[in-house]
Amino acid sequence: MEMSLSGTTLALSPCTVISSEWIFMRRYSNKRILVTGGAGFLGSHLCERLLDEGNEVLCVDNFYTGRRTNITHLLKNPLFEVLRHDICFPLYVEVDEIYNLACPASPVYYQLDPVQTTKTSVHGAINMLGLAKRVKAKILQASTSEVYGDPEVHPQPETYRGNVNVTGIRACYDEGKRCAETLFFDYYRQYKLKIKVARIFNTYGPRMQPDDGRVVSNFVMQAIRGENLTVYGDGSQTRSFCYVDDMIGGLIRLMESSDDFTGPVNIGSPFKNSILEIAERVISITGTKSSISFALLPQDDPIQRQPDISIAKEMLGWSPTVMIEEGLMKTIHYFRELGPGVRGNNYNADCR
Ligand code: NAD
Ligand code: UDP
Repeated sequence: MEMSLSGTTLALSPCTVISSEWIFMRRYSNKRILVTGGAGFLGSHLCERLLDEGNEVLCVDNFYTGRRTNITHLLKNPLFEVLRHDICFPLYVEVDEIYNLACPASPVYYQLDPVQTTKTSVHGAINMLGLAKRVKAKILQASTSEVYGDPEVHPQPETYRGNVNVTGIRACYDEGKRCAETLFFDYYRQYKLKIKVARIFNTYGPRMQPDDGRVVSNFVMQAIRGENLTVYGDGSQTRSFCYVDDMIGGLIRLMESSDDFTGPVNIGSPFKNSILEIAERVISITGTKSSISFALLPQDDPIQRQPDISIAKEMLGWSPTVMIEEGLMKTIHYFRELGPGVRGNNYNADCR
């Protein structure tokens, strides 16, 4: 067997294949990067982008809400590795950077097993921070706009301290993420760790689970199946929707920002839409015959949410570029390709 590396041809016997891969990786990779939650919606896009930039990527996931099909196309890349692992347990690997994304993000899924959600956020953060401390890696936390709860300040700047119902059904996620942020800043102050905290606002796009319960995937699948779109409440509640490609760009810029910039920084679309507007747009773009039906607004559902992204603009030179119409069209195209009968992985108690 022969292999050409940068003009050099190596004669390889079958038993030297692994070492040739190692030579390839060491020569062509930039950094060794761990992405927890790498088989999920955002994680799979992040792994893909980091690989495209020539990095070695280790995807760690317990497949609670993630899917193998999100990363199947990456498996042929010798710089990509997958490890089935629950971050609630310690992990010993050697990496330069860690993106900590592991945690269900859909309210339906994070409320299904709220104790596990808190454990993933808190124990998971402790384990990943411990790993970062041991190997002196830079670590980014995927935090959330949910740290602001049902905000009374609008739009929300990073200085706003939030309005979370501590004992409510969303608290497992909101308080878990708030505690994770606290841990990140304590490790920063106590151990001088290089940390980055991104407060991610609602993001949508290809590879969301078709039945994960989030609003964009629900509406698009309902429209494709010819079912009524289920608007909770009267649909006047607002969210700001960021297309996934923009979000990934923001997270990478944050990781690459100077060491003295820790965040927290809001990353999301500064444009808000009511949920009813989103339903109407999906109906209009898909051309479905579906109409809208109204259902009860879930408990503690935030009335409004919109980021102030001044810090992201100033410190990262970042703002989103994909408008909602274009992003929805790409997302609808993706779900159409999957077909109306497709289901996600649903909840599987055996997955942990
Ligand atoms: P997702 O559910 O698609 O992905 C989460 C991934 O984490 C899944 O692959 C899941 O299997 C994995 N996971 C969950 N618990 C785990 C554990 N204990 N150990 C290992 N892996 C585990 O969600 P997403 O939308 O890709 O969100 C990724 C991150 O971004 C989450 O931390 C979420 O809180 C944050 N975030 C996302 C949004 C959004 O709109 N997508 C908004 C705010 C914050
Ligand atoms: N929502 C809705 N219909 C659905 C799913 C969600 O009206 O089928 C609403 C939900 O009540 C919330 C908004 O859409 O007001 C966004 O919900 P999602 O679960 O996507 O995210 P989050 O509430 O965490 O922002």
